[in-house]
Amino acid sequence: MTRLQTMTRLPILKTPLPGPEAQKILALDRQFVSPSYTRDYPLVARRGQGMMVEDVDGNTFLDFAAGIAVVATGHCHPEVVAAIQKQAAELIHISGTDFYYPSLAELAQKLASIAPGAEAKRVYFGNSGAEAVEAAIKLAKYHTKRDKLVAFHGAFHGRTMGALSLTASRAIQRKGFGTLLSGVFHMPFPDTYRGTYGVRPECASADCLSYLENELFRRRVDPEEVAAIFIEPIQGEGGYLPAPPEFLQGLQRICRRQGILLVADEVQSGMGRTGKWWAVEHAGVEPDIICTAKGIASGMPLSAVIARASVMDWPPGAHASTFGGNPVCIAASLATMRLLERGYIANAARMGEFILGRMADWREKHKIVGDIRGKGVMIGIEIVRDQKTKEKAPDLRNRLVQMGFQKGLLVLGSGDTTLRLAPPLIVEEEQADFALNVLEGCITELEEGSRQ
Ligand code: PLP
Repeated sequence: MTRLQTMTRLPILKTPLPGPEAQKILALDRQFVSPSYTRDYPLVARRGQGMMVEDVDGNTFLDFAAGIAVVATGHCHPEVVAAIQKQAAELIHISGTDFYYPSLAELAQKLASIAPGAEAKRVYFGNSGAEAVEAAIKLAKYHTKRDKLVAFHGAFHGRTMGALSLTASRAIQRKGFGTLLSGVFHMPFPDTYRGTYGVRPECASADCLSYLENELFRRRVDPEEVAAIFIEPIQGEGGYLPAPPEFLQGLQRICRRQGILLVADEVQSGMGRTGKWWAVEHAGVEPDIICTAKGIASGMPLSAVIARASVMDWPPGAHASTFGGNPVCIAASLATMRLLERGYIANAARMGEFILGRMADWREKHKIVGDIRGKGVMIGIEIVRDQKTKEKAPDLRNRLVQMGFQKGLLVLGSGDTTLRLAPPLIVEEEQADFALNVLEGCITELEEGSRQ
């Protein structure tokens, strides 16, 4: 794997944050940009390279958020940039909905080849994660001729009206938007740390599977009417919570028995982030449909639905999008996939072990660290008030995010009380060491502050 020439390899802060130029942009943004965005801290980015982001005042930050788990190959990887530039000079748009171009079919072939399962696959392209989920909802209903859907507490599948109907992450995301899709049923996610609503953490898989079969399917919806079960194999916005392998396997068994499609939303967990192309591969599960986006094109807007060929049986006109599978985005994606295959997925797996190893004693050393979990470079640190009671400590988590920023480290929260580590897949040991030293320093500072 070649080492990227980055502007710096570790953060350098030149001004107090936010700096003077950043403050001007913040004022403009406050006046004109939709207030619905949730910015945790005032990073005003000017450029990015590899693991680093430079702000408008010349401060550089180490990026452990990757633009919400998007820039898989780091910022502006030279091969991705070259592919985008070449394509932009040749053909920016023609619309795959109405015309043909080689790269659309080539990327479809590539995505089909990496999806688990022996059956041939077909691919639909969209522009965002939510669009992929919308398409999967429609495809599942169309193919099965069934109407009902099952999703999970804590799930995040996007914010368009269909995807939002599956999302059960935060009430504010649904508040005020009226009636969503009918026929969506939510069930507990197998949370092995906390357990919720009668689910015991130590038998979360069995309890949740039993809930599905003995509660949901007996009392609330006949499985014969269920088109699909949507699951994030590792809940992303829900707190970087992995579903145990035996749960995913059990879910697949139930789906097959009932003729229900299993849809893996790998928008966040896919494209190599967990050290394999797909998080479901860690469980040996073969979903009928996979939704992917985020890391697929290193930051260019692209999403894909990969389905068993016999499932993607809708006719011309049933679903399409003007921009979906745009040639420039596809060029970025093909370059991204070459780079991922050439070494970055293996790096994600190796660095995941390294990072988890570095944090192995944090629960003993730090009373506010409740749980550390994840795969590859999709790692969550759950912050608690008390390890025994597991009381959530969102205020402490939020302060850690802020403190990290003030020290030049970009991290984001996830769920109520989890800190997520989602660096680009190119991350190296030196940078992981730096990030973990910063975080551990902040955690110690918080703990000492709470003792005084
Ligand atoms: N599905 C999952 C698992 C996600 O994490 C997200 C975004 O965070 C989405 C869907 C929605 O993606 P987008 O924001 O691109 O619409």
